[in-house]
Amino acid sequence: MTSSPGLRILMRGEHSVRDDAIHPNAWKVLRRLHGAGHTAYLVGGTVRDLFLGRQPKDFDVATTARPNDIKSLFRNAFMIGRRFRLAHVKFQENIIEVATFRRESDRFEEPEEEGGKGKVLRFYGTPEEDARRRDFTINGLFYDPFLGNVIDYVGGLGDMERRLVRTITPPRQSYEEDPVRMIRAVRAAARLGFAIEAETHESILALRQLIMRCPKARLLEELLILLKYSSAERSLRLLWQVGLMEHLLPIHHAYLVRRNHIPLESARPDVLFDLFSMLDLDPSGVDASVLFALLIFPLHLDQAGIQPALFWQGRMGGGTLTAIEALFNEFATSIDAPKRFRARALEILSVQPRLYLRQSHIRPEKFAHKPYFWDSFRFFQIATRASDLDVTQEIHTWEKFEPKPAPPPRPHGPPAAGGSHVSSPDQHRSRHGRNRRHRRHGPGRPGDPPQNARPETPTTPSSPPVS
Ligand code: ATP
Ligand code: MG
Repeated sequence: MTSSPGLRILMRGEHSVRDDAIHPNAWKVLRRLHGAGHTAYLVGGTVRDLFLGRQPKDFDVATTARPNDIKSLFRNAFMIGRRFRLAHVKFQENIIEVATFRRESDRFEEPEEEGGKGKVLRFYGTPEEDARRRDFTINGLFYDPFLGNVIDYVGGLGDMERRLVRTITPPRQSYEEDPVRMIRAVRAAARLGFAIEAETHESILALRQLIMRCPKARLLEELLILLKYSSAERSLRLLWQVGLMEHLLPIHHAYLVRRNHIPLESARPDVLFDLFSMLDLDPSGVDASVLFALLIFPLHLDQAGIQPALFWQGRMGGGTLTAIEALFNEFATSIDAPKRFRARALEILSVQPRLYLRQSHIRPEKFAHKPYFWDSFRFFQIATRASDLDVTQEIHTWEKFEPKPAPPPRPHGPPAAGGSHVSSPDQHRSRHGRNRRHRRHGPGRPGDPPQNARPETPTTPSSPPVS
């Protein structure tokens, strides 16, 4: 380890990772691997967030243990990913992802079973190789919880200090290898409030059309992640600034161009940004259909030539619905939203005037039983905040019909060592977080009917494996 030229290690006391911020289930996994003689580190975004004192969305472990070792060590391990046999170690509260250190991000090389030695050796690697195959330097840090060391092979610590998102390999090479990294750069920068390093940024501008090569389902997945977790507005502005909006959200790009958002550096105030900044203020999360409705809403206002407040005071005639439906169809040419989300988003928009009680004559008790009520009300709460319509009375009435939250997960005991768990508002969320991510590792259930129940987190639709 010490032979690596760029290696930098921060020992306990020299960094701000707190062991009691590591989830007890992650501790269980780390200890068992360690106890069996394997190296086991926390990796990637988990270390980045712990280092910054943020609650990680998920706890990812990388180890020298091979998939078969992992399987035999954990009864609750489920092997996933056709190519990279990752393990999901499932607990009641969350899932800990365990992966064997890999050499490179060659997405098409498939390791054989443990018996096929040649291929497996080419595929798996050292911790350093594993760090180098990752996307950004800040995502390439490891944490050895047994020594308390933060291990940096890729210059991540320097970029943490500089608050920069920078690719590990030269940016053009990195994006050509996996164009989704361009969107991931926006996601990391928006989420952390970091800047995108100049060459990393300029290369997105130069290669942005490469994202057209990505499966639409993966783009949808990435888009939904951008709009969650309280950094939607910043993500949209950054998408504009790096030129990705043109390909990811072409009708929104055209809308902003129409509204004179040129040149790229300027993303001036706009209903589109206002709506998503209101969403960012709302910690409870919304269904993906609400996100689609929020994306289409400003386009509809623009097309109809009305101010937001007038939307709730107007009528929802057949012509208006057809116009909104046409926008959804146009949207679908770049982002493949499953039909059920589109249908629900259309419902959400179409019932809005009914929620404006001082003008509508519906019976709230009856309306609140409709399957689309809760998502429609969530849209109403968010979108009316971005208008100057007074809806205090309405909000007060509708809030009475708020569905009961799901019962909290069973409390868990403290870890055997390493301190107690810092309470995690995202605990339950992280399970869904995983789903969206490694579709790669099998996400949500495409057939799920929309529920009239308070969602724990924005739902992410299914998408196929890409790794
Ligand atoms: P978040 O907080 O949104 O989960 P994250 O960085 O943890 O951000 P994940 O999708 O959970 O993102 O991925 C975990 C880690 O896997 C990343 O930090 C990075 O090291 C690596 N990774 C994920 N996607 C890629 C990719 N496309 N190319 C290279 N490395 C990747
Ligand atoms: Mg993560």
